[in-house]
Amino acid sequence: MAIYKCFKCGKQTSHKALEKRFVCPYCDSKIFYKPRKQIIKIKAV
Ligand SMILES: [Zn+2]
Repeated sequence: MAIYKCFKCGKQTSHKALEKRFVCPYCDSKIFYKPRKQIIKIKAV
């Protein structure tokens, strides 16, 4: 399942919730981005 993050309010919305209307249910924004899994690199010294 894809998760989208609202660009405006920063809340996460599931792909299913956006199927009918591609707007943020919280702030009606239409700009979303997919948050990527961040790879945390730990520098071993
Ligand atoms: Zn929003």
